[in-house]
Amino acid sequence: MATILDGKAHADRMLEVVRQGVEGRLAQGLRAPALAVVLVGDDPASQVYVRNKSAACAKVGITSLEHKLAADTPQADLDALIDQLNADSGVDGILVQLPLPQGLDSKRALHRISPAKDVDGFHPVNQGLLLEGLPGLRPCTPTACMSLLAHHGVALKGIRAVVLGRSEIVGKPMALMLLEQHATVTIAHSRTKDLAAVCREADLLVAAVGRPGLVEGSWIKPGAVVVDVGINRVEDEAQGALIFAAEPKKLETLRAKGGVLCGDVRFGEAMEVASAVTPVPGGVGPLTIAGLLSNTLVAANQKV
Ligand code: NAD
Repeated sequence: MATILDGKAHADRMLEVVRQGVEGRLAQGLRAPALAVVLVGDDPASQVYVRNKSAACAKVGITSLEHKLAADTPQADLDALIDQLNADSGVDGILVQLPLPQGLDSKRALHRISPAKDVDGFHPVNQGLLLEGLPGLRPCTPTACMSLLAHHGVALKGIRAVVLGRSEIVGKPMALMLLEQHATVTIAHSRTKDLAAVCREADLLVAAVGRPGLVEGSWIKPGAVVVDVGINRVEDEAQGALIFAAEPKKLETLRAKGGVLCGDVRFGEAMEVASAVTPVPGGVGPLTIAGLLSNTLVAANQKV
């Protein structure tokens, strides 16, 4: 039976480090770091994420400044708000909550954020620094995954790592960070031939796809470490019966509540083959917010 890599517990450890960092600033007479969160429109999931981020800020003493814009906000107004936040010396980090409503160009918005305040680590300058292995603000999810692996003593040098997914937010930066730690990295994606065989080569498998239960137990090399970044909601009972065959409690929840959260990996099956697995929920999810707040502290300290 695999070990469960508890993301919530590690997020708490990361947040405690941030809290102490904020306290250190206050002790030196500096102000608390400030994170500006821009929420455009009224997507319910985004509203929940923004609320969670504000609550996490409050816990560690970071000031959270919310800017809510209507769904029909023109791009020029969003640009103007980002310019204003870039110029505001009282703001250390800027986050534009994605996805933006239709009609708004998210790349344009992300590229407009000053790289020094880009706490999501999505700006091309920060992505370029990562590519070169130089310090910068790095994307929160892969950074936090690396921190979790380091905490659990997962050796990366020389191992075969497979990253499923090639997004700019998770897959690509995760692959670069693993490469930096001397893993031999394969990036697999929707066009990869014989995905199962590629995954089976992995000593470390990172799934960041957004397809519920895509990775079956038989895709996992015995003893591998599995990091499941995917967050999916399954409502269909037939699909649930397939994905949760080795996880009867999850299937019960789906039937009782009409839906249930799961990752890209069939957790019950992975537990029987892997040496360690992150659960969903309670794995990578809480780590991402901790990574964001770490970046906000770093951004604030860079200005000192
Ligand atoms: P994305 O949609 O931008 O990218 C998905 C990637 O998966 C693409 O590169 C695509 O090539 C690949 N892919 C799609 N279908 C595939 C298939 N059938 N086989 C193999 N590869 C396939 O998604 P993203 O932003 O990288 O997010 C991925 C998942 O991670 C989503 O479920 C998202 O909700 C989740 N996520 C979680 C956190 C967190 O905090 N835990 C943070 C970011 C993203």
